[in-house]
Order: sequence, then structure tokens, then C-alpha cells
Amino acid sequence: MRKKIVAGNWKMNKTVGEAVELALAVRDGCSDRSDVDVVVCPPFTALKPVSDVIANSPLKLGAQNMHAEKSGAFTGEISPAMLRDVYCHYVILGHSERRSLFGETDAVVNRKVKAALEHHLIPIVCVGETLEQREAGQTETIVRSQVEDSLEGIGEAVARLVIAYEPVWAIGTGRNATPEQAQEVHHLIREVVRAMCGAAAAQAVRIQYGGSVKPSNARELFAKPDIDGGLIGGASLEAPSFLEIVRAAV
Ligand code: PEP
Repeated sequence: MRKKIVAGNWKMNKTVGEAVELALAVRDGCSDRSDVDVVVCPPFTALKPVSDVIANSPLKLGAQNMHAEKSGAFTGEISPAMLRDVYCHYVILGHSERRSLFGETDAVVNRKVKAALEHHLIPIVCVGETLEQREAGQTETIVRSQVEDSLEGIGEAVARLVIAYEPVWAIGTGRNATPEQAQEVHHLIREVVRAMCGAAAAQAVRIQYGGSVKPSNARELFAKPDIDGGLIGGASLEAPSFLEIVRAAV
């Protein structure tokens, strides 16, 4: 039985003060939920202050990106060791905004996934097709190749990962995939992992759905057999809506 995981991707939102306030409200609102992993992913500037206020609580910290190298002349970048230093447990990799706005390829994502695992960070690896690709009937081909290329060479360690299926057309648009559409792709992803890394890894890997998850649609999405929780953008920016989504993960 896989434990569900609900993560909030705060993107480029929240000053330190606002982030701490939100983290405290989330921490206090989900302190009784040991049956689901709850993660908040603030911007880099708020990682340390949020880490301090959620220490000794079940709420876990995630970053939104990182560089694959340990250290060096990479102006503006953050290393896996720096994330560990502030007690990050998770790191979102290959988010569609990183792919489309900052040119991240599957090969780059693959290097980051390997580096994250080496540093005992759990990668949340994002994949998903654009609207154009879905309408051209390419969803399966695109998602399959993103999973295969992003996870190339990871082997059984895939069991430790989280994969987020985030159809690009559903991110921040208010338009979510139906539970049936999402389940179909989640099942495909699990089958791709099975072919690459074996049955045990496929059974263990957690696959989140992301894309306009709201309190009103979370329960139905999370009830599907291959949907192990959600990666939440807009609805994670306010504690009441995020906590209601957490409550939908049973
Ligand atoms: C995201 O950016 O990961 C996301 C799922 O955003 P939203 O929930 O706002 O669609």
C-alpha cells in the first residue's frame, strides 16, 4: 500500500514573512495526518526560515529546483548539498515551467535526479504533455519518452522517487484532467517504470497528479488506483484550500 503524498509548489510567491505564516498554518492544520506525506516547496529565500518553523513536525520541506553539480562557478544556482543543509527532503525536478521557460531537457533532468538521489533528496520528477501534443494523439509517446529519458540509469532506486504527472494544459489554467484521463496516464507511467526497473519499483513508486487540483476535485482524483496524491500549485498558496486537499487524500 503506497502512502499518499500531497505537495504544495509555491512557485515564485511569498516573501519570508508570508511563507513562514503559511507554513505555520499548514503545519498546525495537518499535524494529525501521519497517514499522508505533506510537503511544502517555498522559494529558495524562504527554505531556511520555513525549515526552522516546521522542524520536529511531520510536515516536510521541498525545493522547486536545484543544480546537478555539488558546487562551483554556477552563478545563481543552488546545489543538492545546500538543500540538504537546510533540511530539504524533496526537490521538484523538470517542472513544465522549468522545461518550457528555462530550456530544461530530459537529459538535464536525468542528471539532476541522479544528483538528488546521491544526496538523499527525494526527487519529484514532473512529466506531462502539452495541449497540442494531446490533441495530436501524442500523449503516450511524449510521457513515455519523458519517463524513460528522465529516469534513465536509475534502476531500482526509482522506488524512492515521486513522479508527478502534470498535463501542461492543466497547470494554472483551472482546467484539470478528468480522473479517468489522469488514471490512464498514471497507469501508463507505472507500466513504463515496470518495464524499466521491475515490478517491485513500479509497485512502490508514487505518482502524483498535478494540474488545477482544487478542494472540489481532489477526492475524486485521489481515489483512482494509480493516483498517489497531488502536486498543487495555486491552491497551495492559501492554507484552507491546501489543507482541504490534504484531507481528500485518504
Ligand atoms: C504546478 O505548477 O505544479 C501546478 C500543478 O499548478 P496548479 O495547481 O496551479 O495548476
